[in-house]
Amino acid sequence: MDTVIMKADAPGVVQIAANYIKEGQLVAIPTETVYGLGANGLDENAVAKIFEAKGRPQDNPLILHVADAADIERFCHQIPQSAWVLAKAFWPGPLTMVLPALDIVPKATTAGLPTVAVRCPDCQVTRDIIRAAGVPVAAPSANLSGKPSTTTAEHVYHDHAGKFPLIVDGGSSRVGVESTIIDLTEQPPRLLRPGGITLEQLESILGEVTVDKAVTASVANDEVVKAPGMKYRHYAPQCEVIIVSGSTEAAASFIRSRYQAGERVLCFAEELELYAQCDPLAYGSEADPQTLSAGLFDALRQLDKPGITKVYARCPVGGGIARAVQNRLYKAAGFKSVNAEEEV
Ligand code: AMP
Ligand code: MG
Repeated sequence: MDTVIMKADAPGVVQIAANYIKEGQLVAIPTETVYGLGANGLDENAVAKIFEAKGRPQDNPLILHVADAADIERFCHQIPQSAWVLAKAFWPGPLTMVLPALDIVPKATTAGLPTVAVRCPDCQVTRDIIRAAGVPVAAPSANLSGKPSTTTAEHVYHDHAGKFPLIVDGGSSRVGVESTIIDLTEQPPRLLRPGGITLEQLESILGEVTVDKAVTASVANDEVVKAPGMKYRHYAPQCEVIIVSGSTEAAASFIRSRYQAGERVLCFAEELELYAQCDPLAYGSEADPQTLSAGLFDALRQLDKPGITKVYARCPVGGGIARAVQNRLYKAAGFKSVNAEEEV
């Protein structure tokens, strides 16, 4: 089948996309976080196609996307007051809430869990498509399973051309990393994945928030985790990725003394000159971590090429959106890191 890319403002795109969704087909949709691979979240046969196209493990549940916060009452129960407060503060936006699922949500979408993850994306065309389809759209990131996520229509085409009929092109995703996931079925609520809505923003509304250990450490394949997606190798280029922490100077001296032809350095724009002899690629500015989150996956995709033998990566420190960048980069590296300050 031909996969067509249609611009978000092309005439008729909302109805065309909505019709495919209603028919049980897949459509790639833009969002402010990353591009999603969407299907009718209430139709288990449609949802099965997402798993097939991505090569996604069956135990990794999907996020149900809604056009309006009020819709979550159709899919969730025992909704705490905090969910409505968070929705008012951060929806539409890059926050996913885990809540008890009603039976209407098929096991294919929740991967058999008693809970479902729900989100209202901050992307007008995608909310219009969901509304026109009249069903919630289940969508994980539109990358092939294990590969860096998709932040442009071209990324999606690269991974999936020929598998489904339509990619809606809304330009580059503004946030660039997947949504923050907060589990509201526990008290205190638990942060399962950091993203564009920061831990600090959540704490300002919820008070205490537990940070799940899978956010900052690797998880064994047989371990039971709250967000099943956390245990899989993720976001990774083909070659070894090593995070080099420490000061700008210490890291540069560590990397430059070991660098060999065929290797690459993933760094901050401010550091490009330091690595002039080491084939550097900047993914954003250290002074503006939002640019790092927006640029990370495109950079990881550029480094996912045969012939690149190793990537030395620089990672921002601190909280806020930098926490989401740390989480994705450490996962891409399989949590392999070295502190240049201790290695001189
Ligand atoms: P993706 O959009 O590709 O990042 O995949 C959705 C993410 O949401 C995965 O990491 C899932 O593990 C997580 N997720 C979806 N539903 C649930 C749920 N009911 N409980 C915990 N995590 C969930
Ligand atoms: Mg994903």
